[in-house]
Amino acid sequence: MKSMVDPLLWESHFEACKRFIGAVGHIIALPLLTIVLGQSTSVLADYSVVIPSVETTSVSSTEDAADDPAIWIHPSNPELSLILGTNKQKGLEVYNLEGARVQSLDIGNLNNVDLRQRIQWDGRVMDIAVATNRSTNSLSLFSIDRESGEVEHLTDESIVLDLPTPYGVCLFKSGSSLFAFVNDKNGTFEQWELKPDGASRKARSFSVDSQPEGCVADDETETLYYGEEEFGVWKRNADPKLNSEATLVVSLSESALVADVEGMAIYRTDEADGYLVVSSQGDSSFAVFELDGANPYIGSFRIGDSGEGGIDSVSGTDGIDITNASLSTEFPHGMLVVQDDENSMPQENQNFKLIDWRRVSDQLMLGKSAVGD
Ligand code: CA
Ligand code: CA
Ligand code: CA
Ligand code: CA
Repeated sequence: MKSMVDPLLWESHFEACKRFIGAVGHIIALPLLTIVLGQSTSVLADYSVVIPSVETTSVSSTEDAADDPAIWIHPSNPELSLILGTNKQKGLEVYNLEGARVQSLDIGNLNNVDLRQRIQWDGRVMDIAVATNRSTNSLSLFSIDRESGEVEHLTDESIVLDLPTPYGVCLFKSGSSLFAFVNDKNGTFEQWELKPDGASRKARSFSVDSQPEGCVADDETETLYYGEEEFGVWKRNADPKLNSEATLVVSLSESALVADVEGMAIYRTDEADGYLVVSSQGDSSFAVFELDGANPYIGSFRIGDSGEGGIDSVSGTDGIDITNASLSTEFPHGMLVVQDDENSMPQENQNFKLIDWRRVSDQLMLGKSAVGD
């Protein structure tokens, strides 16, 4: 489901109206504004707004095309790190930290993408990306050169799925093993252990009752988090041997999330602590939860426009990714990357926005990784 209005634009009207009402005050302004705008149901929650630092070149396909990003960290020169982004109508696009497209791999209708680095693969250490390919009903595998950053399409043939419409995918690195969790619109998840030369094997499957998509594995705690778009967020142990039961982290009806639950990603402040960030597509916000224990909710934020004709605000986000790595002076404590459903200022094809983690952590009083110190 996509929201039909740009909530950030709406919010700017809201903010202007609040300022105009001024002395009348916030408490009275809310119902007044509801009447003024003829909004009979709930008013958008008044979350903190952060601004983006960079936006990528727009994807090369029109309409709904950009979907899910994955951040690759250059092993020796973090400023040369890259963002892989899916184009649902064409393939994989690759951007540098300035947002310029540096590569485009037209290999089919890729929906989601994820990657892990320093994987033992074919007798050497490699960085591997995986995408759901709806043109071939398979997982597309890529390598990322650890010096040049060049993305190479390895194969579509090693993992042919039993799923009619492969949708979300996320990776889980456990010791020397690399796993992919891939889901289908029908609610089925398959967990695959990925190996070179067609030796990949399906480790297990499980399901949810309605359409899933976004997921993320926390390698530190071996926990898989996954969304059921119109229901909530679940977690379960990512180790297939344990095949544990799922636990409901949060249901939509009792949370700040507004359907669809979309992309999710993890920011670690250290080995023990961190945050789970979830795209709340229905109200163009992002909800932050503790990684610990029962994952208590911390707060939500939106991504506004950078002002002065710069970068437009973010709405209707599908996929997201986060790194806590110190990338550059612009992103010293890591970066959040989000898909933006409508790329305006000027009106162009969809794209991805890059946000300095400090902007999020300052607004929500969250921790930061130590790597930038
Ligand atoms: Ca979706
Ligand atoms: Ca936008
Ligand atoms: Ca999506
Ligand atoms: Ca723009």
